[in-house]
Amino acid sequence: MKKIKTPKCPACGSAKVVVIVYGLPLPKAFEMEEKGLVKLGGCCIDDDSPRWHCNDCQHDWGKMKI
Ligand SMILES: [Zn+2]
Repeated sequence: MKKIKTPKCPACGSAKVVVIVYGLPLPKAFEMEEKGLVKLGGCCIDDDSPRWHCNDCQHDWGKMKI
């Protein structure tokens, strides 16, 4: 898995920000979520789905669409 550069949380300024993964999660994805490396966003994704998740304040933001 390639490393994704994450922004800082706009709500609390924390660097503990992870990318939100959509789609059917693989067992590895659950493992990664437990380690705080990703956030599972569920299988449904649309234009308003947030891209980033803050592990400190649980804030979700951003857009999947680039
Ligand atoms: Zn935050």
